[in-house]
Amino acid sequence: MTSIIFRTFAFFLFLLGTACTNSTTAALPPTPTTLRVVEASTAIPETRSIQPVTPAPPTDTPDANQVALLPTDSIPVNECDHDNTLPIDQHRLALVIDYANHVVEAVHEVIVYNGSDSAYDYVVFSVEPNRLLDVFSMASVTVDDDAPQSAELTGRRLTVVPLEPLQPGCSLTVSMTYTLTVPAIGSVSPATQGYFGFGARQFNLGNAFPTVAPRFNGQWITYDPATIGEQVTSPVANWQASITIDNGPANLVLAAPGIVTSDSDGAWQVITRGMRDFAFTLSPTLQMASQVTSNGVTVEYYTYSDAPVQADNGRIYNGPAHALEAASRAVEMFSDLFGQYPHSRLVLVQSEFPDGMEFGGIVYVGGEWFRTYNNSPASYLFLITIHEVAHQWWFARVGSDQANAPWLDEALATYSELIFIEEFYPDLRDWWWDFRVGTFVPADFAGPSVASTVYDFASVRDYINAVYLNGARMLESLRTDIGTEAFFAWLARYAAAGADRIVQPGDIWRLLSLEELAATEATRMRYLGTSALPG
Ligand SMILES: [Zn+2]
Repeated sequence: MTSIIFRTFAFFLFLLGTACTNSTTAALPPTPTTLRVVEASTAIPETRSIQPVTPAPPTDTPDANQVALLPTDSIPVNECDHDNTLPIDQHRLALVIDYANHVVEAVHEVIVYNGSDSAYDYVVFSVEPNRLLDVFSMASVTVDDDAPQSAELTGRRLTVVPLEPLQPGCSLTVSMTYTLTVPAIGSVSPATQGYFGFGARQFNLGNAFPTVAPRFNGQWITYDPATIGEQVTSPVANWQASITIDNGPANLVLAAPGIVTSDSDGAWQVITRGMRDFAFTLSPTLQMASQVTSNGVTVEYYTYSDAPVQADNGRIYNGPAHALEAASRAVEMFSDLFGQYPHSRLVLVQSEFPDGMEFGGIVYVGGEWFRTYNNSPASYLFLITIHEVAHQWWFARVGSDQANAPWLDEALATYSELIFIEEFYPDLRDWWWDFRVGTFVPADFAGPSVASTVYDFASVRDYINAVYLNGARMLESLRTDIGTEAFFAWLARYAAAGADRIVQPGDIWRLLSLEELAATEATRMRYLGTSALPG
């Protein structure tokens, strides 16, 4: 496929990407029914130019700690003893999934920890699925096994008032029982939100479960729904889930982050630590290939048997194998640059919904990027794979206000694509700028500020242009202002300072020195519309 055709297709896809999955899949080449020749793996060069490869820190067997950290007996109840309470929220989910009918019955306990210095009169949860009609049905809410003073669910905001305020350093347990009636992928607009949905061959539960809302400036924050971008930001928490299937096909495959075990009844147990959410996918036909990176991370890529595409020349382009290779190299490279990936596994899934999506320890890459793979790193399959891996640093590690400052994760994830290309395929650097950015954003772009919110746009295309693509231009300009070495040192400081936190835009700017702030003033004025630092 020539780059011109591909670019036209990609533009078309982006224009229509939120309208209807079918309208885009109709334009895709047919998938092969027989695989004859499989291309040898496109080896990714060993040379690294941006930053020398540093020895990997010893793997701290994080998942072993994870088990040790999670109490397995009684849940602490309003005890203010730090010995008995982890300074982090903890979720325990018991899920029974009626696979054929797409219904999930959940018993969900959340130990909410007050890590602030003032009492909470109430606690707030983000209930993302309740942005949709007839999807989320709450049956009961208790606090420490008693009826709360009140519990009110309005849209995606659940406010629970306990009988007594939650004191600093203390925890309480909110127990919920609820039912999720999961919609079909594509029935919710935009179709990119199919991470919560079922399709012909996969069942996705992303942004499916209530999370503790973040607190900014002493206030619980939940956001109005927007059809563009993401809004949910949650504090990191430990998760423990049991997943039981009713009415499911035999040999269901579970693609989930963390430690996954199954018992003799066919139920799965999943444990994750330090994650902002819990997402997973079930499918009877997903296949998995994995690699262990040089820094000890097992990268698993789940794809379908028709993901390798048959080209016009009769050859098979093995997208799954090449994308796994790219994801593994990205984990190594971003660990070197921005800090060790803190989990033992990273899961990638070929999605039935378009584009891509990130969650803690698991990300999705749209099936269209496999079907259009051109056997080259100059492809959306590579770029979106790397982009979603980068979100493990810019979203999962460093949490940010996705609704009001989406550039903090999206511009950085997009620029991380370039870093990868520059490192492994320096000849493609100009291609990346032309293909990924120049196609959509002219050099003299005078559109909305990089610092726009998700509510400022009428179309996904305009949002991506201003926040992702012009955001990448801003980062490139900042790098030119202060020099490559200082630029990556700054990003490393940001990744360290923001680890396991939810940052505000001022946090990244405050990590520049006074000299660097002066050197970047014109860039900030140009791309943000102000050189003043946000609060
Ligand atoms: Zn992204």
